[in-house]
Amino acid sequence: LGAASVVGLLILSPQWGLYVTWHLLIPLVPAILLLAPRLWRNLCPIAVVHQLPRLAGRGGRRRLGASARGWAPAMAMAGLFLIVPLRHPIFNVSGPALAALVGGVLGLALLGGLLFVGKAGWCSTFCPVGPVERLYGQQPVLSLRHAHCADCLGCSDPCFDRQGARAVARMAGAPKGAPGRGTPLWRTPTGAFAGAFPGFVLGYFTVDPAAPIPALYLQMALFTAGALLLFALGQGVLRFSTLTGIRWGAAASAALYYWFTVPSVIAQTESMWGIGSLPGWLKVAVRATFLALVALWLLDAPRRERVGASARGGVTLTRGFRAS
Ligand code: SF4
Repeated sequence: LGAASVVGLLILSPQWGLYVTWHLLIPLVPAILLLAPRLWRNLCPIAVVHQLPRLAGRGGRRRLGASARGWAPAMAMAGLFLIVPLRHPIFNVSGPALAALVGGVLGLALLGGLLFVGKAGWCSTFCPVGPVERLYGQQPVLSLRHAHCADCLGCSDPCFDRQGARAVARMAGAPKGAPGRGTPLWRTPTGAFAGAFPGFVLGYFTVDPAAPIPALYLQMALFTAGALLLFALGQGVLRFSTLTGIRWGAAASAALYYWFTVPSVIAQTESMWGIGSLPGWLKVAVRATFLALVALWLLDAPRRERVGASARGGVTLTRGFRAS
């Protein structure tokens, strides 16, 4: 219903639809993922649509082979890297185009649910937002119950919904108890994404939005590759662990995102509501709040890892099994 409302708004009142999407809803997502990724995984409208066939008893039975499962994260990242630069010329400015994108993705997710078992046809594999969910959701503050899989069908291995931090660590090549420092970041799609994503975010916010599309892609590609190179060299020289690397990748990405997004949200809010200029200290205070959240998330991550966030999780949103 929420997604249908937003799509309707994007078509009927594009200006408000774009404002609600890009300046109210989406800016909340990284913070939600840092704090309680299962809250987003449970509420995401695309995830709900993906599971409708299963709820109707018509869920697919196909399973992805080991090779396809291995490449799925890379395909999801490629989808993200292809779509996001198009925000500047298309999806940030055209409500109907954004509505078409959301509708198309909902259709793909539904098809994935009809063809593949569990979440294997979208949420756990090809969803372009999945790598971001795993990056920010790798060490949650709150462990909520998982709403979608009352019975596990074993559709994904590792499963981010069921195993949370352990799944991300495995995908990055740093399983619990592994000897040494883990796999170099650039050797796995998940590790490489963690190193590259801060550059991608920085490239997105610093590129000229009116630049031709090839120039948009070029700048973002250069920033993305540069960040990955820096992380790879940093890991080689400073010899930090894979887990440390993916945490710093998440924190740098989230900090950059909020640094640039907060002024934009405030400016759009002033303009859309016609309330004139909000006090200058508000931008400073909101920025500082989000940056402090990111810093605390990063500094407290080793402790959460030791304690085991799931052992402390006490918030129950839905009926269903308790994720281990
Ligand atoms: S909990 Fe089981 S069914 Fe649900 S996404 Fe994970 S592996 Fe698939």
